Amino acid sequence: MLIVKKFGGTSVGTPERIMNVARRCVEDFSKGNDVVVVLSAMGKTTDELIHLAHRINQKPPKRELDMLMTTGEQVSVSLMAMAMDSLGVRAVSLNAFQVAMRTTSRYGDARLKRIDSDRILHELEDRKIVIVTGFQGINKYDDYTTLGRGGSDTTAVALAAALHADACEIYTDVDGVFTADPRICKRARKLKEITYDEMLDLASLGAGVLHNRSVEMAKKYGVTLVVRSSLNRSEGTILREETTVERMLISGVALDKSADRISVLGLKDRPGVAFRLFDIIAKANINIDVILQSIGRDGTKDISFTLPDENADEALEILEANKSRLQYQNIDVNKNVAKLSIVGSGMMSNPGVAAKMFEALYNEDININMISTSEIRVTVLIDTRDAERAVNAVHDAFGLDE
Ligand code: ADP
Ligand code: ASP
Ligand code: MG
Repeated sequence: MLIVKKFGGTSVGTPERIMNVARRCVEDFSKGNDVVVVLSAMGKTTDELIHLAHRINQKPPKRELDMLMTTGEQVSVSLMAMAMDSLGVRAVSLNAFQVAMRTTSRYGDARLKRIDSDRILHELEDRKIVIVTGFQGINKYDDYTTLGRGGSDTTAVALAAALHADACEIYTDVDGVFTADPRICKRARKLKEITYDEMLDLASLGAGVLHNRSVEMAKKYGVTLVVRSSLNRSEGTILREETTVERMLISGVALDKSADRISVLGLKDRPGVAFRLFDIIAKANINIDVILQSIGRDGTKDISFTLPDENADEALEILEANKSRLQYQNIDVNKNVAKLSIVGSGMMSNPGVAAKMFEALYNEDININMISTSEIRVTVLIDTRDAERAVNAVHDAFGLDE
């Protein structure tokens, strides 16, 4: 079997943990399997590197930020190879350059395009464990890029797909995918299995346990993904096209505290206004999410939307620069908002689901600022200070704790 095993930051956060991971990988290797290991940077290294950059320059050039961040993963892969060597096992660490992991050119948010599997296959044939840096790639200028925060999961899935691996295991600091973030919701339950679609929505809506593009890629290439703990031997959660267990109304609650809300007030109430506004934002490659447009009144209307906080300043600059073109009166920003979502394919034909969520929030006296729904999710915008209380209230209202 060819197994791809990915370990996140906490799982390789100390020398002891690196040794623990090394032993776990050697176990599989000694059984005759081919083992490819993908690693994140140790502990909070990536955060620290970003912080360091901002102490030098408030707006660090994105190319240089990627150049800096990619060093984190290089530390962990080389240490892991040393750990395996100390266990008497042959191992080799490779970075994105050495593998040739080609991405789009966009720094900080690059997409993997092509992975050259030759070097890895060659090292595997030579009976080595291959340890690859997660999160990084190289673009057409031969510069380092990164795949976005949490992107090592995507490196692992992409490698599993490129190498036609038999298994792709994501090891992290919790026992699997839970009905809500177990650090926020003490009564959250581990799911035995979850569909790609549900996991994609959860991940996109803030459940940081998997990078959303890793789920998208796993679905596309039919990679069977397992999420499990690096700290114990419990079974974990398996991602599938369809789940076999009894359908639940909802499979999980996700919280995204990193959302900001921008309202553009006093726009003209006539055709083309929303198009012009969102076209300008889209051209800057900013992903907006929940949108709310008010009913027109006295010939004007307001449009509000949410976006990741890291994009808020750029969006504001663009809106300011286009004030005369868009003809609005004012802009209002709220950074203290959080997005709370429930996700589940079981809600598809069940009209009571949204009402039940709103009732749970009402019972906690939590105000809803915006609402958006799809067939398998309901998202509300609430104040950040209510966020954790809201997760728990909604989670329990749907009986996910039982
Ligand atoms: P890693 O460094 O291993 O990639 P992450 O911090 O990226 O770890 O992801 C694991 C974290 O995801 C957990 O510690 C947990 O707090 C958080 N998380 C958020 N939502 C969920 C969920 N639904 N199930 C499990 N963990 C979740
Ligand atoms: N080290 C990177 C990050 O912290 C990638 C990852 O952990 O997946 O975002
Ligand atoms: Mg992660």
